[in-house]
Amino acid sequence: MREGGSEEDVDDIPDADLPTYVGSTTFYKLPLCPDETSLRESRAQVAIVGAPFDEGTSSRPGARFGPRAIRGATYLSGALWSIQLGVDVLSKVRCVDAGDAPVVPSRMERAHRVIREKVRSVAKAGVIPVILGGDHSITYPAAAAVSEVHAPRRIGMVHFDAHADTAPEVWGALLSHGTPMRRLIEEGWIDGKNFVQVGLRGYWPEEETFRWMREKGLRWHTMVEIEERGAEAVIQDAIAEALDGPEAIYLSVDIDVLDPSVAPGTGTPEPGGFISRELLRAIRQIVGRVDLVGMDVVEVSPPFDHAEITSMAANRCILEALSALAAKRGPGTQTP
Ligand code: MN
Ligand code: MN
Repeated sequence: MREGGSEEDVDDIPDADLPTYVGSTTFYKLPLCPDETSLRESRAQVAIVGAPFDEGTSSRPGARFGPRAIRGATYLSGALWSIQLGVDVLSKVRCVDAGDAPVVPSRMERAHRVIREKVRSVAKAGVIPVILGGDHSITYPAAAAVSEVHAPRRIGMVHFDAHADTAPEVWGALLSHGTPMRRLIEEGWIDGKNFVQVGLRGYWPEEETFRWMREKGLRWHTMVEIEERGAEAVIQDAIAEALDGPEAIYLSVDIDVLDPSVAPGTGTPEPGGFISRELLRAIRQIVGRVDLVGMDVVEVSPPFDHAEITSMAANRCILEALSALAAKRGPGTQTP
């Protein structure tokens, strides 16, 4: 606010500075770059991609409405100054919104195909895709696309979730939100030993699946371990494991890793999870340390949410990752 200013002085407000509920509906009003040409011309480092598909769910549906809700769940617009990391996020990391993968309901294989094509086109343009789910089945096409583009570099996975999502099938279905990590490992997109899971708890999957995970060399950190050792120590171990072998990391955040008290709007809530503060700190630490080549935030189901609490947590998971990318380019506001 200028000294002695008047309302007339601020009449001409660009769309990017308007509230997010006014005007364009992209993530933080970022430029919309829906095709590969506009994406390349934007010289973006990060592109938001919506994957509004939820027919891989096994219980409560609704995650198809996640991308719209996550994009809208903020009271901020204009510049984003991270108090956590002391950095002007959007001046340091050029971000755009690539729009949604053009999915339609009732066509699982087509949905996965168009999500894979969309994520591949972003990654091929040299841009980091940040995918808004959608149920967790979308991580199968999304991470496969990233792994395909970056081959022969080895991609590792850091996976936050209450559930391992490594079932061989769910009620006979190979494509489900309970199976994406199994598909990625079985098809060789990511090696089991480069897979790190954090936040597992509850009663699923069964012992046999954990035996398979052990055979494949997966590493996982349960909530019991976090209760006993604290999140800080466990996340430091998870980072070291993520960097043990792979050259770059795909980060997958199932919002149900959070406790249902702070993230009720999700398909398969499991009591006893992270608080938001722990997850946001973990994301900053991981993205700050690894070479991030892709990320998703999945399983936000707005119809089961209250007061946008879950959508807002998902929105901030992404902002914290963007902030950590920005901080790697040095503190302050100047654009290189
Ligand atoms: Mn999951
Ligand atoms: Mn889950």
